[in-house]
Amino acid sequence: MYIVQVASECAPVIKAGGLGDVVYGLSRELEVRGHTVELILPKYDCMRYDHIWGLHDAYKDLYVPWDGASVHCSVYCGWVHGRLCFFIEPHNTSGWFHRGKYYGDDDDPVRFAFFSKAALEFLQQSNKRPDVIHCHDWQTGLLPVMLYEIYKFHGMENQRVCYTIHNFKHQGITGTDILHATGLNREPYYFDYERLRDNFNPFALNYMKGGIVYSNAVTTVSPHHAWEAHHGAFGYGLGHTLHMHQSKFRGILNGIDYTIWNPSIDAYIPNQYDSEGLDSKELNKKALRERLLLRHTEAPIVAFIGRLDDQKGVHLVHHAMYRALAQGAQFVLLGSATSAVINNQFQHEKAHLNDNPDCHLELSFNEELSHLIYAGADIMVVPSNFEPCGLTQLISLKYGTVPVVRGVGGLVDTVFDRDYDESKPPEKRNGYVFYQADNYALESALDRPIGLWKGDRSGFTQLRQQGMAYDYSWHRPGDQYLKLYNHIQAK
Ligand code: ADP
Repeated sequence: MYIVQVASECAPVIKAGGLGDVVYGLSRELEVRGHTVELILPKYDCMRYDHIWGLHDAYKDLYVPWDGASVHCSVYCGWVHGRLCFFIEPHNTSGWFHRGKYYGDDDDPVRFAFFSKAALEFLQQSNKRPDVIHCHDWQTGLLPVMLYEIYKFHGMENQRVCYTIHNFKHQGITGTDILHATGLNREPYYFDYERLRDNFNPFALNYMKGGIVYSNAVTTVSPHHAWEAHHGAFGYGLGHTLHMHQSKFRGILNGIDYTIWNPSIDAYIPNQYDSEGLDSKELNKKALRERLLLRHTEAPIVAFIGRLDDQKGVHLVHHAMYRALAQGAQFVLLGSATSAVINNQFQHEKAHLNDNPDCHLELSFNEELSHLIYAGADIMVVPSNFEPCGLTQLISLKYGTVPVVRGVGGLVDTVFDRDYDESKPPEKRNGYVFYQADNYALESALDRPIGLWKGDRSGFTQLRQQGMAYDYSWHRPGDQYLKLYNHIQAK
């Protein structure tokens, strides 16, 4: 099968969060199984060019119809750890992908609508005719709309779309001007509740809704979150749309790429280990303490890695830090804030705790350091308000770092409470779960692994090993996506 992934991220070259990991990991899995996979990405100025091999211009003059005229683009091609990627660079005065960051500008809806159009134009003009176009999140929500309404009539009638939603909170909500810019010219037709009109803001257009309405299959990244989005509040206003299209909507749990996230081969950590050699994990703990200037003492390390965003339950992260210290543990945080308010709050905490030898806050995005933290920490907290899938708990399990999670979204599908989960026998349980989003609930879960580490080290080691025994690779999700692609493929 020939599959093209269209996305705004692909790890490690463009990564703001889990989307990047998933786009890379799924592509690799499909290729290993013998399918042809290509990726189309924006050519950002700030991406990690050191992870691209053989970058060259593949298509110098791509003219993309836009806003009654056309925008001149170049398409570059290169390999990202073996994956064939095409990077689109528009040559316009707004410098759409020359902002020194991936997201966060007022014209994001315009930039990514253009990217979606350019991806289709590139496929059309270069005569690429994939069986399936797999696109991701709000940034590419208009792609299936334009494919079905425009490009189908220009030789692309057999292409099918699988649309994966990684985060319902960001939907691409904007004004109707974009319709004319993209060539979707019949405004009353498109700006209708059946199609692109936002369900709650009568003046706004919603890209993600368009993606749901027009794609052949729609997925989100865990079965439990599929349920939450459809029936609960986590669809952020799209529950009705999902209901109308429920026959093509389902949850497929993300995997992680065990060629990257694997303590037995991880080149970013000083001491490789597996579940039989957990003594080497202790050496990584020592290395982590040295790197972050923590004192060497008989205490577990509790960690948090993630975007510092409301979604991640920052108030509980904050509480976990002080609770861990009060319980005699050390605490390490690696996070980048998504708003100035949250950034200021954590900068303030960092200054306050600067001389504390048991605590380190690293307020940046640092892929290499994240590997050392997964390997060196004992406990990982994931106290999210909502979590479509969550990769940090999956990576932690692989590294023998016991997850303490809030029971939402994909965390419910992947972490099973050591003391209370009745769906699993004791030898299959792998972490700790709490449900309420308050300090007491967090404490009820966090105190238990700290107590186990202190009072029953062999019990703690066994729990680490039970987590490491889980297979959250791309193997199973790879099967599920292929089944879905086959199902929607043009016969
Ligand atoms: P989300 O996609 O909501 O940000 P996920 O748990 O799905 O959250 O994926 C997060 C990914 O990003 C993981 O690979 C995690 O290790 C990584 N990550 C998050 N924050 C940072 C950071 N500050 N530095 C390095 N890696 C990070």
